[in-house]
Amino acid sequence: MKLIFEIGAEGRGLSLLPECDVPETKLPEGLARESKLHLPQVSENEISRHYTQLAERTHGVNNGFYPLGSCTMKYNPKVNEDAAAQKGFRRVHPLQNESSVQGSLEVMKLASDMLGEICGMDAFTLQPAAGAHGEFTGLLLIKSYHTDRGDDKRTKIIVPDSAHGTNPASAAMCGYDVVSIPSAEDGCVDLEALKAAVGDDTAGLMLTNPNTVGLFDKNILEITRIVHEAGGLCYYDGANLNAVMGQARPGDMGFDCVHVNLHKTFSTPHGGGGPGSGPVGCKDFLAPFLPGYQVVGDAVTGFHYTMADKSMGAVKQFNGNFLVIVRALTYILTLGKEGIPEASANAVLNANYMRVKLAEKYDMAYDATCMHEFVMDLGEMKHKTGVSALDVAKALLDYGFHPPTMYFPLIVHEALMVEPCETEPREVMDDFINALLEIADKSESDPEMLHTAPHHTVIGRPDEVGAARNPVVKYNWED
Ligand SMILES: *Cc1c(COP(=O)(O)O)cnc(C)c1O
Repeated sequence: MKLIFEIGAEGRGLSLLPECDVPETKLPEGLARESKLHLPQVSENEISRHYTQLAERTHGVNNGFYPLGSCTMKYNPKVNEDAAAQKGFRRVHPLQNESSVQGSLEVMKLASDMLGEICGMDAFTLQPAAGAHGEFTGLLLIKSYHTDRGDDKRTKIIVPDSAHGTNPASAAMCGYDVVSIPSAEDGCVDLEALKAAVGDDTAGLMLTNPNTVGLFDKNILEITRIVHEAGGLCYYDGANLNAVMGQARPGDMGFDCVHVNLHKTFSTPHGGGGPGSGPVGCKDFLAPFLPGYQVVGDAVTGFHYTMADKSMGAVKQFNGNFLVIVRALTYILTLGKEGIPEASANAVLNANYMRVKLAEKYDMAYDATCMHEFVMDLGEMKHKTGVSALDVAKALLDYGFHPPTMYFPLIVHEALMVEPCETEPREVMDDFINALLEIADKSESDPEMLHTAPHHTVIGRPDEVGAARNPVVKYNWED
């Protein structure tokens, strides 16, 4: 496929501006560009075809199954897009005065309150732009709390070795030393290792529950108690909230603050890099340190911005990615108090359905009832047949499926991590299961065919390391 710079021709572009009808003024010396400005010059139908072709080469939840574990790639109802496309939301300016944006302020207030209810938290900031950004913000809350009490010896954040890579990265970004603790045999937190790690230098613990292997840690109350007893705080990575929303609340598990990934659990399309949103919630005692503006008030007295009295400042401009919040609120309101727990229950049911069926030919990393996702361990298959998790993932492309997450979590070496989500019907899951079972048979009868898969896609096996490490993102013009 040609790049947009390689199609069209000089002079074919659209004129957006009318003829100039005022005297032209020369730019001051030194400000005018010296080289030619290269812009694609294409007609409307060339643009339209170009982007349609790109879209056709892209796999999204609208094309088919996308069981990317740890990412919650659910189908997002289009009504959320309708809500976000309303002029009154789309066209507001963040500097408009409060009285002219009461509706938008009400959206933010309602979204904060409902996320608070779902998570068991007292206050929320909507500013952070993603999960990782939420982690950074939440850890700054923890840091502000310790600093405010004059406790500056707490320099360590404890993170289990199964954690998402953003957890230790966020802790390091906040200037903390990361203490990694090993998981127990069953994939959950090793209580003895945790007890040995905590001390008066512990600032906090970061944990996701269910964890990144899809298991709910039954010792969660004991875990948060151990950390609190040592004087640390507990941060809940809410990326896996899709498994527990409406069933269990991080606040009731003993967590002090949490982020939620609106682009995972609360139905904003993602995968192309955003925009996302990672609101951070906290218990009352951390609320004075929240960043940005909170909205207070009600429909009778009016809604207003407030700034927390010991606020850490802003972590993003204005109100974060506001339209993502509109989508999330629409989703929460359309599902309601009955629909939210039903969604998480179905997400868990779907994952267990697939896990049990696939166990016929695939080893599971943990032999336990899972939550919304499960991890297959292809170590034995690779040892016996030479077919790796990568080969299986590539082979799935020929069946028209997006592969599951590969080689994550790091504690399982040949991992494939499947998360079907609540929005997939049984027939789709059955097709995917059958494809994987067929691939398992081929691993014995024709491993070579799997080593070279995919055979029917536009691109076969690109140099993935090269593409990630040395991406060419700038077109090289000849003149
Ligand atoms: C996705 C994810 C994150 C990071 O969230 P982003 O929105 O991608 O920054 C953190 N932790 C877990 C467990 C995740 O799955």
